[in-house]
Amino acid sequence: VSVAAALARIVGQEHVRTGSALRPFLHDATEARNLRGRADAAALPATPEEVAAIVSWCHDTGTAVVPRGGGTGYAGGCVPDGGVVIGLERLRRVRALDPLEWRMQAEAGVTTRDVQRLAGENGLFFPPNPGAAEQSQLGGNIATNAGGPRAFKYGVTGAWITGIEAVLAPGRIVSFGGPVRKDVAGYDLVHLLVGSEGTLGIVTAAWLRLIPPPAARYPIVALYPDAGSGCAAVAAAMASGTVPSLIEYLDGAAVEIARGSCPLDLPPGGPFMLLCEADGDEQEAERGRGLLLEALSDGALTVVAPPAGGADQLWRWRETVPTAVDAFLGGKVSEDIVVPIERLAEAIERTHEIGARHGIRACSWGHAGDGNLHSSFLFDRNQPDRARSAQAAAEELFSLALELGGSISGEHGLGLVKSGHLAGVWSPQVVEAQRAVRAAFDPDGLMNPGKKMP
Ligand SMILES: Cc1cc2nc3c(=O)[nH]c(=O)nc-3n(C[C@H](O)[C@H](O)[C@H](O)COP(=O)(O)OP(=O)(O)OC[C@H]3O[C@@H](n4cnc5c(N)ncnc54)[C@H](O)[C@@H]3O)c2cc1C
Repeated sequence: VSVAAALARIVGQEHVRTGSALRPFLHDATEARNLRGRADAAALPATPEEVAAIVSWCHDTGTAVVPRGGGTGYAGGCVPDGGVVIGLERLRRVRALDPLEWRMQAEAGVTTRDVQRLAGENGLFFPPNPGAAEQSQLGGNIATNAGGPRAFKYGVTGAWITGIEAVLAPGRIVSFGGPVRKDVAGYDLVHLLVGSEGTLGIVTAAWLRLIPPPAARYPIVALYPDAGSGCAAVAAAMASGTVPSLIEYLDGAAVEIARGSCPLDLPPGGPFMLLCEADGDEQEAERGRGLLLEALSDGALTVVAPPAGGADQLWRWRETVPTAVDAFLGGKVSEDIVVPIERLAEAIERTHEIGARHGIRACSWGHAGDGNLHSSFLFDRNQPDRARSAQAAAEELFSLALELGGSISGEHGLGLVKSGHLAGVWSPQVVEAQRAVRAAFDPDGLMNPGKKMP
């Protein structure tokens, strides 16, 4: 039986993709670095049982299984290198929504935006807000432990997950955790699956913890002559006596690229930008705004507090920054290194030094409060030698992150693009422990092979 015919028996012919219909399942947001995979077929199951049947067939036949959410990942995690892609987009049921208990159980294919919207419509709040929320899915957010701006105050996706239902090798549906808010009975396998990038199992549903939303949100924008003064202001904001919900930055080069659509009037010359937000109940948010305005003013060219209504427009603009950078020259290699917060300015400046050494235009932006940069090298996609230079520059970022006491990925994961780098980063004992975990869940090496660990 062909792969497609076997999959059709499980999910129905209309939910199997081959030939040209398979193409959209072969890439993710790393397309700007020319990354494309290959696969035998993609299947779009509608239930966990169908996912389990596919995984079971793949194990019986020694076929690789690659889970795919919204395909917005920046690490090539869902880019297949042969085998079967399982697209989770039809697993879209919200199985439970309990506003009074502040929780929800949703299937993996529900988009991030729908999770946020449903929580909001029921008077609650799901804080994680990675960009690309319209396309990314809950399962992909869990598999990458996605962050986003608000992670600074509220934590990353994993902080909001109390239970996971997943299909494990060789094709069993297993539930870890559940609706309970605390559970220390066993090893914490819920959070072992969080961030596992599809290499330990396929998430089919999850229990989410929700909270009441902050009543007020006040944005603050501050501009500085350089990264040094901007990052000193980050430290001042952290010492201000309030916890901002987010502290984001754009370096001067990123500001220049994205300034066209910016709702604010920006002075020329590529200032370094900080975007902050004070939130909470009305009184708390106002107090926070006051403290932040004062803390951010030292060394600033200007500090603006747009009216509360202006926040949405500003955040929508911030969400377009990655795509504006992608579009600038057509090609981009971007790495999401993370460094201790006090080394942020150095990491931002050295990103430019690395770019200059390779003759490549660089810029960075990211989650300043978390020390998480999106350091990017830009190139014309029609010039393969430029792409190679950008890649070589990106490799230097990994050494930089380590030298500064950080890590090679703050939120996008290792996927395919960084899968070979762990051994160079961690001690042999740590690598061995990581391998042992993987082998316990995936003894045949068929779950998203080649990702995270080579
Ligand atoms: C414009 C833009 C902005 C972004 N901003 C942020 C940001 O602020 N913070 C951030 O953290 N990320 C950000 N990202 C990256 C990306 O959106 C996140 O990593 C997101 O969580 C990926 O979700 P996805 O559903 O698209 O997953 P995919 O890209 O489809 O897959 C990502 C990984 O998860 C695995 N996977 C997917 N679904 C499942 C499942 N159900 N079970 C098991 N494994 C699965 C895949 O195999 C792959 O390894 C951004 C991306 C874009 C394009």
